[in-house]
Amino acid sequence: MSHRNLAALATALLLVAASAAEAKQWRYAGMHPRTGQPRDGLCHLEAPHVHSAAPLYADTLYRTRDNVYVFIGDPTPFGYEGPRHSYYGHHPVVLNVLVDIDVDVDVVEYCYHDGPHYHAYAPPPGQEFVDKEDVHFYAGEYPEEYRRENPKLVRVNTVYGGWNVPRPVVTFAPPPQYHGPIIQVNVDVDVRVGGRPPPPSREVIIIRDDDDDDDHHHGHDHGKHKKHKHKHKGWD
Ligand SMILES: [Zn+2]
Ligand SMILES: [Zn+2]
Repeated sequence: MSHRNLAALATALLLVAASAAEAKQWRYAGMHPRTGQPRDGLCHLEAPHVHSAAPLYADTLYRTRDNVYVFIGDPTPFGYEGPRHSYYGHHPVVLNVLVDIDVDVDVVEYCYHDGPHYHAYAPPPGQEFVDKEDVHFYAGEYPEEYRRENPKLVRVNTVYGGWNVPRPVVTFAPPPQYHGPIIQVNVDVDVRVGGRPPPPSREVIIIRDDDDDDDHHHGHDHGKHKKHKHKHKGWD
């Protein structure tokens, strides 16, 4: 090959390399938001596939396994119309139950959605949940990984707080087996937890009740929930 041809080949290879870099592809498995903007809806492909678009809010709406993005959030704001399961608060999600990935042990991640929310998936088998009026509550212990990731992943609530998200109506106190955060989330629909009145607009009140060993003190006793209470103004 002549010197000139080699130079041409080198240029061609550089161009191929450049376009490959530009056309970076992102691997997804299972249903996921098309872009991450609610108006852009959902991609319903279940099998592993690629897109040239990077996932928006990747660090809170998705979990990854071998560079495959798996959406674990509430699909409601993206126009989801399929079967829904109602949950309250933080709970485990098992990626290999959601999508078909080849693993030897369960890949357990945690959903950090506060308060009542929906998922397209049922609670994973092998994890402890209690149901109260068709709402799933995680009844197990939260492991160290959950606590470690909490400050970062709980920001999913800030993302969803900017959207108009219909939520399950939960008008009762969580069962005593639930040890997660009890958080009242202010939305347009009438959502009440344990009979307490909704907080002022655009404000979330975090209520932790550490001596929650039975159900009877919840409900209509407003004063009892005031301790360990602090306010967040974080939706903007
Ligand atoms: Zn897709
Ligand atoms: Zn959830």
